[in-house]
Amino acid sequence: MLLITCPVCGAEGDETDFHAGGEAHIKRPATSDPGNISDAEQRDYLFMRKNPKGLHFERWRCDRGCGKWFHAARDTVSLRFRAFYRVTELPPRDLMEQATGEWREFFKDKLAQGESRS
Ligand SMILES: [Zn+2]
Repeated sequence: MLLITCPVCGAEGDETDFHAGGEAHIKRPATSDPGNISDAEQRDYLFMRKNPKGLHFERWRCDRGCGKWFHAARDTVSLRFRAFYRVTELPPRDLMEQATGEWREFFKDKLAQGESRS
């Protein structure tokens, strides 16, 4: 059982009280300039996802509380959640620093800018 706490309303529950929404922090090119999206950009947006062993960043929805989407940092090996944060925020800085592979690359610029939240 996965125990989850919504960072928006504070609702607590297991994974059946929430809805998994896949990878977090995905850029959606079609919403910013739909007329100038290449096939490769659209393909990447629709189908290309990270699948790390270890620390991963995901979207979840609070089904039985506020109904809002939020982000979670979870270890895919232990299944343990490490943090919950709002979709307008970045994960805690220590978790961005612990990220590996594609996630490390994704957070590199944000760490270099000294951001801990945005
Ligand atoms: Zn909630």
